Amino acid sequence: MVVHGIKLQDDGNSSSGYLQDTGGDSRKVNQYATAKKTVMVDGANIIGILTYCIVFGVTLSQLGRRGAVVTQFFTVVNIVTFKMIRLVMWLSPLGILFLVMGQIMSTTDMTETGQTLAIYLATELAGLAIHSLVVLPGLYFILTRKNPYAIYLKAIQALLTAFATASSAATLPVTMQCVEKRMKIDTRISRFILPVGATVNMDGTAVYSAIAPVFIAQYNGINLSFGDVIIISLTAVLSSIGSAAVPGAGVAMLLLVLKSIALPDRGISFLVTVDWLMDRLRTAVNVASDCLVVGVVSHYTELPPCNPSETQSEQQQEEQEMLENDLV
Ligand code: ASP
Repeated sequence: MVVHGIKLQDDGNSSSGYLQDTGGDSRKVNQYATAKKTVMVDGANIIGILTYCIVFGVTLSQLGRRGAVVTQFFTVVNIVTFKMIRLVMWLSPLGILFLVMGQIMSTTDMTETGQTLAIYLATELAGLAIHSLVVLPGLYFILTRKNPYAIYLKAIQALLTAFATASSAATLPVTMQCVEKRMKIDTRISRFILPVGATVNMDGTAVYSAIAPVFIAQYNGINLSFGDVIIISLTAVLSSIGSAAVPGAGVAMLLLVLKSIALPDRGISFLVTVDWLMDRLRTAVNVASDCLVVGVVSHYTELPPCNPSETQSEQQQEEQEMLENDLV
């Protein structure tokens, strides 16, 4: 057996009063304590892979021109992958139809499943609302002492475009316009922060990836421990950083989160049926968060008067355009 991860498990022998570890060493702790043991589980070490990729990307970006070949290689792999996915997506309506039909036919109690799905939707909506209307504005206010809702008003066009397209990347030009023209942010800040933000700053996707696995666990009748919830939250944040700024990317990343605690993917098709709405909402939250981040950075940054030689080089602009054209 290939061993990839460690998981704390209740061994179902709670009255034994023994805390065990993998070495077989055991000691008496408390007669009534729940016995826990550390076991190895099959599957990929998702948190490890995500952490490696993030550190790799950050280190690569620090190499500047010396890392350009590797950066270009991965940029092209990224574009090719997206083009292939786009081809497959033409078949997705048919695939989803059969997926959902199969799921419905194998579900014994549709009422209960419907209720769980409704509770999931309400939880997801509440999570996104609390995050975008309370947490993010609260942080923005603490950091800048300015009205965060004024930013939302100025960025309303970008938020609506995000809702309409379900893609942070497709919304990027509108976000830039709102930030530069209506929020009056220096283009040197907006053009640096927004493309990075659209790619890695995905609060809505993180909220989604943290809540959806709980639905899957409940649907499959699995109880999650506190440790599982922590791992889900961690993987949700990491996978949202790696998530693409295109429609439906969150669902693909959800599979990673499910794998991180060995949850089955049974029931995911129910999430797919409501994802047309969830995706739009979480994309709007992603874009809202980018606008607030730009506001915070601009608040703390004092830039010298614009020097034309500091503006983006033609090559960088070309690469940026290539990415935007090919990914959207
Ligand atoms: N569609 C989202 C975005 O572009 C990503 C996701 O699916 O969560 O920001």
